[in-house]
Amino acid sequence: MNGQNKSNTPKSEDDLHEECGVFGVWGVPDAASLTYYGLHSLQHRGQEGCGIVVVNEEGTLKRIKGEGLVSEVFDEAKVASLQGSTAIGHVRYSTTGGGGIENVQPFLFKHHTGDFALAHNGNLVNSAQLRQQLEDRGSLFHSTSDSEILAHLIKKDASDRDKPRIFTIIEALNMIEGAFAFLILAKDRIYACRDKYGLRPLSIAKLGDGYVLSSETCAFDTIGAEFIRDIEPGEVVTIDHHGIRSRKYTEQTRHAMCAMEYIYFSRPDSDIEGRNVHSFRKETGRLLAQEAPADADIVVGVPDSSLSAAMGYAEQSGLPYEMGLIKNKYIGRTFIFPSQAMREKGVRMKLSAVKTIVKDKRVVLIDDSIVRGTTSRRIVKMLKEAGASEVHVRIASPQIKAPCFYGVDISTYDELLCAHKSLDQVKEYLAADSIGFLSEEALFEAGQRNDYCLACFSGRYPTALFQSIEDANKDGKF
Ligand code: SF4
Repeated sequence: MNGQNKSNTPKSEDDLHEECGVFGVWGVPDAASLTYYGLHSLQHRGQEGCGIVVVNEEGTLKRIKGEGLVSEVFDEAKVASLQGSTAIGHVRYSTTGGGGIENVQPFLFKHHTGDFALAHNGNLVNSAQLRQQLEDRGSLFHSTSDSEILAHLIKKDASDRDKPRIFTIIEALNMIEGAFAFLILAKDRIYACRDKYGLRPLSIAKLGDGYVLSSETCAFDTIGAEFIRDIEPGEVVTIDHHGIRSRKYTEQTRHAMCAMEYIYFSRPDSDIEGRNVHSFRKETGRLLAQEAPADADIVVGVPDSSLSAAMGYAEQSGLPYEMGLIKNKYIGRTFIFPSQAMREKGVRMKLSAVKTIVKDKRVVLIDDSIVRGTTSRRIVKMLKEAGASEVHVRIASPQIKAPCFYGVDISTYDELLCAHKSLDQVKEYLAADSIGFLSEEALFEAGQRNDYCLACFSGRYPTALFQSIEDANKDGKF
């Protein structure tokens, strides 16, 4: 598996994990405080490490980073020590390169042509090849993260010293392949870059006389910034004392946003490329009720990411929406299950069925997606033990059948429940009374768009992969 959970987080092995979130502020006093709040709003995108780099009045880049949640790494004094009106920040969930403080971003590079910092959300598919080429030419990497590669590409040629920096950035962006939203911070500007497929989101907003950049728009609302627009696929935006300038580093672009951003990762209050995430999920629930109706008494969603879809399913089917499952919000990431028996009970610590609601009821259970199926199976069992007479599982996305190469830890074929099983076998494994998935067509309708990355459902990858899927699977890399 690409992403390793290094903490004692009591999250199930069935949870999906996003790689990261990025946030930046240009030209607003107290940029580090704003970045701190912005990273808080992006915490769901990565809980294993975070950091902030600020440019102070002397034009020096200063960084604080650490392993853990934003509230664990930073306190008031640390944030106050980062003085300046320009900053970038990052929250990390480790995928390529694994965990460890050296892989926590933003990365900070000292260079005689000017120091710079870099924060990345996504995953590069040609990182192994580029890394080897760079090492052969003398590059020494500080981390095992693929995100560091861009910095080495930007500074690879001494002869580039007199070129405007934007040209070396554009050359470097044309060499990397895969999913990325990059923020690059120099003492006098921020560059914001998005991959040509548009796989990962990145937006820009106005705050006072300055600008804010974020992986998700929910962070703008937290600090009172006003959304301007999304960074376009294949675009580099430069923000400095001249304002905002835009350049396309390639014309070969798509709008193949990761469908999982809508289905699972992003916060419901975020808008991705003009579509609100809650509204999208509610619409998938409505369409799911049309495509896979169920003879039942109540609709129950798996908290939290499936609640919007459950609302839509209930509305469309005319069945009551009930709070049949409750999530314990107060299990911290450092909660330790001391024994195997307790680990088994872990899912009950996180989630419990409400007996008086589900007893003797035929339940439609709505979940956003199924990866390995272990959690769904436990939830079905839990609902039946709580007295549900039937459990009809309905999934607000298609069947996940293929690994992700773009920064989401969707694992090997062998671990994916739906990769080799028929619908009947999936139903049997979950011990459900019936099963239904949403179609790809419904995802397009719900998103009001005609392009996505749907590779984990369809196996059709938007980029070249640089490694055969079989090899990646054999390596246990995915
Ligand atoms: S393969 Fe799936 S998880 Fe990965 S980027 Fe595409 S849609 Fe998202």
